[in-house]
Amino acid sequence: MSMGKRVEVIDDAPWGRSQDWIDSGLLNGRNAADFASAVGQVTQTLLGRFDQVQQPFSGVLPAELATAFEAVGLDQPLASFEAALDELEKLYLHDAVYFHHPRYMAHLNCPIAYPAVAAELITAAVNSSVDTWDQSAGATLIEQHLIDWTARRIGFDARADGVFTSGGTQSNLMALLLARDHYSLVRLDGYSIQKQGLPAEAARFRILASRIAHFSLQKAASVLGLGADAVVPVDCDADYRMSPVALTNAIDQCRRTGHTPIAVVATLGSTDFGSIDPIAELAPICRQAGLWLHADAAYGCGLLVSPNCRERLAGIEQADSVTVDFHKSFLQPVSCSAFMVKDRDHLSCLTYHADYLNPRSQTQEKTPNLVCKSLQTTRRFDALKLWMTLRVLGPDKLGEAFEQVMALAQAAHTLLTQDADFEVLHRPELSTLVFRYRPAGVTDPALLDELNAAIRKALMRDGRALVAATREAGRSYLKFTLLNPATTLTDIRAVLSALRTHGQAFLDACSPALQGDARICGVN
Ligand SMILES: *Cc1c(COP(=O)(O)O)cnc(C)c1O
Repeated sequence: MSMGKRVEVIDDAPWGRSQDWIDSGLLNGRNAADFASAVGQVTQTLLGRFDQVQQPFSGVLPAELATAFEAVGLDQPLASFEAALDELEKLYLHDAVYFHHPRYMAHLNCPIAYPAVAAELITAAVNSSVDTWDQSAGATLIEQHLIDWTARRIGFDARADGVFTSGGTQSNLMALLLARDHYSLVRLDGYSIQKQGLPAEAARFRILASRIAHFSLQKAASVLGLGADAVVPVDCDADYRMSPVALTNAIDQCRRTGHTPIAVVATLGSTDFGSIDPIAELAPICRQAGLWLHADAAYGCGLLVSPNCRERLAGIEQADSVTVDFHKSFLQPVSCSAFMVKDRDHLSCLTYHADYLNPRSQTQEKTPNLVCKSLQTTRRFDALKLWMTLRVLGPDKLGEAFEQVMALAQAAHTLLTQDADFEVLHRPELSTLVFRYRPAGVTDPALLDELNAAIRKALMRDGRALVAATREAGRSYLKFTLLNPATTLTDIRAVLSALRTHGQAFLDACSPALQGDARICGVN
């Protein structure tokens, strides 16, 4: 350890006397010039990147990039902010994956609305913590106003409430937590899992979700002590939507085998197919069976602001709880999400009182302490970016952007179905498209899997475009996730052409083997 400077307590007028404090980099009124200069440099650097970036990814491999980190010793700071920013350009910005690029089509990452990024600066600089009023004041009211707005968009009434979360994973965890505790309170004679832990009956609790629902449900069931196997997969129809008949059968089957269904999750926008479970038909089944209905609209929530397609979410207002991921479908930076409940009373299973933070007396005085309905304590003011986006652009613009990418997915579907070299698995309901390269003559299923895996790998390496890979019915596919309203059909055509080129190269490389035994054609 190096010898640090002696710490001196300053008796008076510290700002006038101690240059150290100013140099130390605190953000306050005294060093406004340093801050402004740093922000100016960051802005210039970012604008430079956005201007220069020709493709969504450089194609760098982890091991290649890792060598650049070997020389970085974190014990020795650099001479200036500028030097640190220069270093960051090499270590990160040069090779980052750029979601704003029209040929980024891999995962549910959206390009970002600029007012949201500017708002992030305010969020970080003021650093409100939206757990209690006494750490946030107006920030708490901004978040609550957005929660109330979201509730109205869903069609919930005045009993509704919610809270911002880190993402769909946390929101789904909260949903299953509320469902589990509610079931126990109502059906097990007021038994409180919150206070007493899991009852013996919990080993039989089951959650029903479509077989293509998000894996965060299994994770949540595991965290909640129910076990990942408590999530029962329900069959879908040909369009990857949960079948109401299959749900009814699955509930019966659970009961026949001594299990206890407690909740149903309707996925409104599946991650792979963008399919929307028919929640208006599922809701009466759940009501009749006395089951909590959670709507996972992490992806499909973009329809809440769609001027023309909102009716595709019809029935969402019948859910007991809803997951919305603004960082997927509202052009918001990560993290920006919310968990919503139809009846705010259910959130009480998340309420704890700490004398130092949110004493019971404050609840009686109606002080808004959002920590009372959150899994988190210190919590970032993520609501501000959505607020600024809505105040500057308005909801219709966001909805139109979502409609734009849905229309693009339709057009891409048409392109693919007209192309004999590609096989498409479904007609998009939102903005994803699952397909694979399947040129005439290549029929061996294992070879098709290898071919498509190799295409994705090769595309990742050249970085001209990024697509995702997924599996369905045991086979490998490629996937477009379209969230960028700046992406055009020309981009889609160019990406298909790149996929074809890589596919052809793979097949050429193993054509001698193909003539013999297709199965010995490997990726290596
Ligand atoms: C992305 C996604 C999630 C998880 O959300 P995160 O924000 O990544 O935690 C949950 N459900 C669905 C349907 C999703 O697409």
